[in-house]
Amino acid sequence: MLDFTDRVAMVTGAARGIGKATALRLADRGADVVVTDVVEEREAVAAAVEERGQSALALDVDVSDEAAVEAAAEETIEEFGRIDALVNNAGIFPAIDLAEMTAEDWQHVIDVNLTGAFYCTQAVLPAMREQGYGRIVNVSSVSGGRVGWAGNLAHYAASKAGMVGFTRSAALDIAPDGVTINAVVPGMIDTGAAQRVSSDEEIEAAVASIPLGRQGDPEELANVIAFLASEESSYVTGASVVVDGGITKV
Ligand code: NAD
Repeated sequence: MLDFTDRVAMVTGAARGIGKATALRLADRGADVVVTDVVEEREAVAAAVEERGQSALALDVDVSDEAAVEAAAEETIEEFGRIDALVNNAGIFPAIDLAEMTAEDWQHVIDVNLTGAFYCTQAVLPAMREQGYGRIVNVSSVSGGRVGWAGNLAHYAASKAGMVGFTRSAALDIAPDGVTINAVVPGMIDTGAAQRVSSDEEIEAAVASIPLGRQGDPEELANVIAFLASEESSYVTGASVVVDGGITKV
């Protein structure tokens, strides 16, 4: 069983959905968790971590704000003395037709989904280097590598393809420090996200085309993220692990 005893994990966008499931799965396995998000529900997730017998720190962090990200890393070190795992999960997916997409729309999605991961990774690296140990997990999407079921997400697809390239190249830079970095590439995960970009009919048709015949549960993705965030994934770096019920194989 994955063991995070005495490990400290930071999860971004941890108030809801996949981030919340990941924070709680890591706590279940013995991690102390830094729960960062821009919405209040982060406090409830931190409380749920504590109910599991682990320490938690809830921080109001917009990942696209470099100063806020740096402050969060500093606060984590002050509180726990180390950062063993970072899960770059925070993401947004505002559907906008390309013809109507402004440069600001484009930039905002890139800033949160991709530059945010860059800021967070840079902020935790000094501690991980000093420890000679670290695990970074980036949440990409199948939308980055194939045409998804939903259109109107060109900025999102670009950010998620960027996440895979970032992961692959960064792996080479940080491998000598004992730090690994990997991506998970989720398909349709049942967090209510699909409802925000697609109609019920579109979702039904998309689910019918998934070989496993259903959306994934956030906990099923959290299991894979937890493995990549654990000591047990020691020989995996620069990889992209697809967790999609088989949709990209059709
Ligand atoms: P969600 O909307 O339920 O959760 C995302 C969380 O990120 C929210 O709590 C939100 O408040 C937070 N967030 C948004 N902007 C932020 C910012 N600037 N700084 C910090 N936190 C911020 O979405 P989800 O479905 O759980 O998705 C989580 C991640 O998984 C995203 O990166 C998403 O792109 C990716 N993903 C989801 C699916 C899916 O089907 N659900 C599929 C592929 C990839």
